Amino acid sequence: MTSYFKSIWSGVTTTIKGLAVTWRHVLSKPVTVQYPEERPYFSPYERGLHEFEPDKCIICELCAKACPVDCIYIEQEGRGKTATLTKYAIDYNKCLFCGLCTEPCPVDCIHMGQEFDLTAFDRTQDVIVDFTKGEGPWRTVRTSAEPRTGVRAHEK
Ligand code: SF4
Ligand code: SF4
Repeated sequence: MTSYFKSIWSGVTTTIKGLAVTWRHVLSKPVTVQYPEERPYFSPYERGLHEFEPDKCIICELCAKACPVDCIYIEQEGRGKTATLTKYAIDYNKCLFCGLCTEPCPVDCIHMGQEFDLTAFDRTQDVIVDFTKGEGPWRTVRTSAEPRTGVRAHEK
């Protein structure tokens, strides 16, 4: 008989505990972000799609040499000081978002940005971004924080 009442008591208390959790969440502010109308917050140190400043690039290829998966493809026309950058592509099928390519750049023209949305229909073409072609959020000056100072370019 004792165990009968114990079971009833256990059923009542666990139901109350469960409902307390439910009501706590019903009354709290939702954390869901209504993407794409709302953009999620990212730390200034986020390593998203790259940002590249093609006009500053001196085509030294140090970034491509530093890349552990060889996913940066650089092409140029001409040699030496008259060389022109004709292709600077990153294959996001392979990219690890490690940021190693940004560190050796002597003119600081390749950065990790905060853009993350690279939805595409064609994996073989659209996910390889050539930064010298077209316009996009990636052809821009730095919006992310400078890793050593923690300061964003537009906040200086
Ligand atoms: S983030 Fe890493 S994997 Fe991606 S291009 Fe740069 S070095 Fe290569
Ligand atoms: S390291 Fe910098 S300057 Fe050299 S090729 Fe890469 S992006 Fe251009």
